[in-house]
Amino acid sequence: PRVDNPYEGATVYVNPDWAAKATASGGSAIADQPTAVWLDRRAAIEGTGGARGLRAHLDTAVEQGADLIQIVIYNLPGRDCSALASNGELGPDDIDIYQSEYIDPIVEIMGDPAYADLRIVNIVEIDSLPNLVTNVGSRETATPECDEMLANGNYVAGVGYALAQLGSLENTYNYIDIGHHGWLGWDDNFNAAAELFHEAATANGSTVDDVHGFISNTANYGALREEFFDANTVVGGRPVRENTTWVDWNRFVDELSYAQAYRDKLVSVGFNSNIGMLIDTSRNGWGGSARPTSASSSTDPNTFVNESRIDRRIHLGNWCNQSGAGIGERPTAAPEDGIDAYVWIKPPGESDGASREIENDEGKGFDRMCDPTYTGNPRNQNNMSGALPDAPLSGHWFEAQFRELLANAYPPL
Ligand code: BGC
Repeated sequence: PRVDNPYEGATVYVNPDWAAKATASGGSAIADQPTAVWLDRRAAIEGTGGARGLRAHLDTAVEQGADLIQIVIYNLPGRDCSALASNGELGPDDIDIYQSEYIDPIVEIMGDPAYADLRIVNIVEIDSLPNLVTNVGSRETATPECDEMLANGNYVAGVGYALAQLGSLENTYNYIDIGHHGWLGWDDNFNAAAELFHEAATANGSTVDDVHGFISNTANYGALREEFFDANTVVGGRPVRENTTWVDWNRFVDELSYAQAYRDKLVSVGFNSNIGMLIDTSRNGWGGSARPTSASSSTDPNTFVNESRIDRRIHLGNWCNQSGAGIGERPTAAPEDGIDAYVWIKPPGESDGASREIENDEGKGFDRMCDPTYTGNPRNQNNMSGALPDAPLSGHWFEAQFRELLANAYPPL
């Protein structure tokens, strides 16, 4: 039987493959922290160059005496439809391959009685459903690839299948991705996405009982808390929500308030009332000398927000290897109301995407949002990308970024 919050009182698996890289790159202060294991292609199930496979991770977790392991399910057909850096190995119509050659073998391994005492947290298909809300149809941000995945139904079918099959095991805990506040925080996106999550959670054999909760900010950089303002703050008589390019009518300015509000919304559309939220805090610390230490005294709303904000990105839509970011809150169980845990799903030090074209056999493309000279597209309102230079392929070790993340950690290390 599942417990309400699987993180409560649990020792969480430390991935030795990640820990070794972190230690070798000056990160011994955090190398003992739990990070997630990404199954980002079929070959990852058996293990790929230098990274152990699923069974080996589960065996190592048992040897460590861990109570919980975090696995990212990330291989949908037509993956990453609004970007190129993490396009995967499966084409838009490969739903049968996804089900039989990816999900089924994972379920088979996880179902081995040797792992029955482990709580297995599955982070299910990040970015997929949010893309079907914001990057389709007549929106300026639409892409032909996301339109195709909406039309063919394979994101919804794939997520439903993954939830149902993984959820058939008694010791698994499925969490669905809700993007982050800078993606779905606007009312139209927030409400439409909640309905879509419910549709996917009741598709292809899944029911809401297969969903234990939701996760925000996976592999993103949104601040946990903006300390000096919220969307309702009024500056010089003008609300920042309506009068700043940074907030731009968003209901939320940070991840904690977003995740807590989304929990209530999701219960209201039919998810179980005991769902819990996770927040990926691996890279949202924004410490270092650029971090504001007090609210701005400006009476101009834009100046006030820009001088006061913890999140130092050029634009909220920037997502690739962000310059100035730092390690965030260390993984913590039950830190706030409605939050099951702060977790490190994106392993700090692993790139979000290459800053130039690099040939590879992982299905990874070149996305100019990872190029520091790029001047943007409608999804970041044509701002500079804010990406660090000289980045390797997504998922590959990016030592320079790792060292910056350590230096800018908040809380400091
Ligand atoms: C990549 C994956 C990688 C993951 C974690 C994603 O952006 O596409 O290959 O495993 O990040 O670093």
